[in-house]
Amino acid sequence: MKYWWCMECDQKVGLNRQGRCECCDSEGVDLLLNESELSRSDSAASSD
Ligand SMILES: [Zn+2]
Repeated sequence: MKYWWCMECDQKVGLNRQGRCECCDSEGVDLLLNESELSRSDSAASSD
């Protein structure tokens, strides 16, 4: 399942039939590859 991030709602959203945010009908949505994209704080935690 794909996830989308709405810059208007500032949260993970779904798309409506027009390919816009289903919450606010905004076109400002970005595709998220996976849920880990939601928390990028630990992206450089590995070592060795
Ligand atoms: Zn929205």
